[in-house]
Amino acid sequence: MGDDQNLAPERAEESITPATKAIMPVHLTGRIAAMDELKDIADRHALHLVEDAAQAVGSEYRGKRSGDLGTVGCFSAHPLKNLNAIGDAGFVTTNDRGVYEKILCLRNHGLADRNTVREFGTVSRMDTLQAEILRIRLGYLPKVIELRRRNASIYRDLLDQDHVFIPACRDYEFNTFHTFVIQVERRDALRAWLADHGVATAVHYPVPIHLQPAARHLGYTAGDFPMAERQSAAILTLPINQFMTEDEVAYVAEAINGFYC
Ligand SMILES: *Cc1c(COP(=O)(O)O)cnc(C)c1O
Repeated sequence: MGDDQNLAPERAEESITPATKAIMPVHLTGRIAAMDELKDIADRHALHLVEDAAQAVGSEYRGKRSGDLGTVGCFSAHPLKNLNAIGDAGFVTTNDRGVYEKILCLRNHGLADRNTVREFGTVSRMDTLQAEILRIRLGYLPKVIELRRRNASIYRDLLDQDHVFIPACRDYEFNTFHTFVIQVERRDALRAWLADHGVATAVHYPVPIHLQPAARHLGYTAGDFPMAERQSAAILTLPINQFMTEDEVAYVAEAINGFYC
């Protein structure tokens, strides 16, 4: 059971067509995707890498931060994220001046100046209130990450890994644990058991994107992405937020071990 829960580089390479312009790895749960392998593929096919770093603010890979691993990094500061505004907000990182200027333009209706619409854009300006809240919360981010990593290590130490699969922690990565996702047998029964013990859990996500109604026109069916399908049936997100005490994390781990013993 289980792997690192991120994009498999070899599957990405198989999927490249003449129309492909970029690969968009998602750093799911706060763990960086296999960027060395993906960079190699992107370079060989002259493609850009666009990081979906929405769950990975502050995460690192071989000493480099998320958002600095491809052409563009995309971040969310939605209230549920580790660096969170009190409404919608997000930001983009790039070292490419052309991309930078294009994004500046696109986020504000595509206006080059007050009276010139260079191309049709969107309204994606971060409002000043959200920006100020994020500026302040940025100062707390290292503490938030430290506490989440502490909680993750308690889970890793206490959970019975004969029954609970936890993705390996590689020495070259720094995971910030936007979520802590285990993979288990009898997931739904465990979830109900934990609810009975006062522990809220979630499933991120129960239906893989290729089986969503919005993707129907693409013609995928069950079986087309077996890893995603297998994981969607086995994954369970445990509480890991920075407000939990060490005892609370231990309580959750013991409740899980109790279910399988
Ligand atoms: C939250 C999230 C998004 C979307 O963020 P918004 O702020 O709603 O745009 C995209 N990708 C991933 C992986 C996310 O977790």
